[in-house]
Amino acid sequence: MEKTADIVIVGGGIIGTSIAFHLARKGAKGVVLLEKGMLGEGSTSKCVGGIRAQFSTEINIRFSLESLKTWEHFEELTGVDLENSRVGYLFLATTEKEWTIFQANAHLQRTFGIPVELLLPQEIKYRWPYLKVDDLQGGTFCPWDGFAGPYEALSGFIKIARKSGVKIYEGTEVQQILQDRGKITGVRTTKGDIAAPIVINAAGPFAEEVGKMAGVEVPVKPYRRQIFFTAPFPWIPDPFPLMIDFHRGWYFRREGQGLLLSGPKDDFPSFNVNVDYDTMAEVAENSIYRVPILEKAEINRGWAGSYEISPDNHAILGEAPGVKGLFLANGFSGHGFQHSPAVGQVMADLILGEKPSMDISGLSVERFPQGQLIQEPMTAFKE
Ligand SMILES: Cc1cc2nc3c(=O)[nH]c(=O)nc-3n(C[C@H](O)[C@H](O)[C@H](O)COP(=O)(O)OP(=O)(O)OC[C@H]3O[C@@H](n4cnc5c(N)ncnc54)[C@H](O)[C@@H]3O)c2cc1C
Repeated sequence: MEKTADIVIVGGGIIGTSIAFHLARKGAKGVVLLEKGMLGEGSTSKCVGGIRAQFSTEINIRFSLESLKTWEHFEELTGVDLENSRVGYLFLATTEKEWTIFQANAHLQRTFGIPVELLLPQEIKYRWPYLKVDDLQGGTFCPWDGFAGPYEALSGFIKIARKSGVKIYEGTEVQQILQDRGKITGVRTTKGDIAAPIVINAAGPFAEEVGKMAGVEVPVKPYRRQIFFTAPFPWIPDPFPLMIDFHRGWYFRREGQGLLLSGPKDDFPSFNVNVDYDTMAEVAENSIYRVPILEKAEINRGWAGSYEISPDNHAILGEAPGVKGLFLANGFSGHGFQHSPAVGQVMADLILGEKPSMDISGLSVERFPQGQLIQEPMTAFKE
């Protein structure tokens, strides 16, 4: 392994590899990416691949629109088929409060030219007759949304990064971040030291631990989300959108010939990524409530992963205060996959000393001690 590098990336998930890809495309040399386990083994491998423009804050919408440009041309850029299914997202509102907020969200999204539709219950029933709508206030649908393959995206980023000279080491854990008088000098790993003036924390749910290695508080906590999938389910005609019953925090979409059903999200932090099969009863109840025909579905298996949640459900991006050369790309709060292209791009700009192509000043980690959290009208939805 190299003894020196210009830039060390800690973490080989979708964020670390996207940053490597974007640095490589900009011609950066001396980039080393270190992954403690296998590439993608963290949250990225647990991700359900949702990509949407329907966000409720300007900054997230901008990240989505910028990322869409990459997703649309991913195969040309990397030679890897993203397996992009642009089936749309349908958000369903049950309470009047939810519906009022959905309407405000749609208004905001339309100011960005996003073709989001506001639908009344009878219109929803007409388009997707298998949905129960009698308790709904309405819904929003955007045909630009959908889902793609996290593994494919990761492979594409890695392929181009490697081709362009980025050195990638798996099974290499960063255990210390070295610094001298407030400046990064390198990392200490399980395979030796690497001297480097720039280190990027792209450690996903482990962001807080990696931050601590440099004495920087990165307020990111891991929260488990469980996912289940069913045996082949031919009773709902394709294509259909990723559908979200916002009130119940439940969603489903097509997965192969079966269905992917969301399970519960823990409301306390932990690194637990085991599946709790007792929660299947809750999943079945949510599923059959909104889509009665799902009583025919047979749940086959499940998996669980960690969301990397920040206190305001928005990313933490930028150079760490007080530690020159330490950059943070953390806290994506369940949206890191879909926003990874734009994140990689702005981080590469920043690291190379250029003005970022998007204004990310509001995403600095300093917003938390300063009490300038990003406000959302309603708890952010997480896929
Ligand atoms: C069930 C589930 C569904 C999701 N669905 C969606 C979705 O539909 N759309 C969406 O956009 N997002 C979704 N997400 C969120 C998305 O998966 C994450 O935001 C994204 O994967 C974060 O990527 P990352 O690279 O920051 O983290 P990770 O993929 O976790 O990568 C971080 C890597 O850092 C490594 N690492 C940590 N510490 C060290 C160290 N000290 N040394 C070396 N390596 C280290 C870890 O091993 C890990 O591989 C979902 C998440 C879950 C759990």
